[in-house]
Amino acid sequence: MALKVYPGRGRRGPLVVSGVVGELRVVGRRGDEVQIEEESIHRSLCECCGGESRTASGLVYDDDGHPTAAYFVHWTLGRVDSHGAMFDLIVGEWGESATSAGRSAVAVAIRIAPEGPSFMIVDATDRPVAESELVGHVLSRGEVVDTPLAQEVFRIVDAIWLHDSRIAEIVESAA
Ligand SMILES: [Zn+2]
Repeated sequence: MALKVYPGRGRRGPLVVSGVVGELRVVGRRGDEVQIEEESIHRSLCECCGGESRTASGLVYDDDGHPTAAYFVHWTLGRVDSHGAMFDLIVGEWGESATSAGRSAVAVAIRIAPEGPSFMIVDATDRPVAESELVGHVLSRGEVVDTPLAQEVFRIVDAIWLHDSRIAEIVESAA
């Protein structure tokens, strides 16, 4: 994935994650604790089974309208039950003066079990997001679990889960 983020013109203008041209749509509403912005969808083939995989990218904003994370949700159509899904995040500082040194890659694996979905922080080192030029630090599971960052990561994942309509197949698999 060749992913780039371009700062918007306004001080709080949107950041555009480029890679595949996509439709920008603000999904969360003002006043929500967290807002998300859906960006592009990238299609590929699953390495294990040749199924059609999708990666939906977007941005998460805090309640002040400042971007807090870019995200990439990866799953294979019709195989969420067996493959689960991955949430790859780039968290940290955004905006025009920020650099990759202030941003970290974190990965969260979703597994679907009969009793419901489980969310587990995993090593981001093996994920495509580790190669992104936007990332200064690639975090292992051990660097994230039981830290304040873990709470922030789950808050971000929760917002994506609730608001990104493109990942409905994953959410419905967990229902
Ligand atoms: Zn597969």
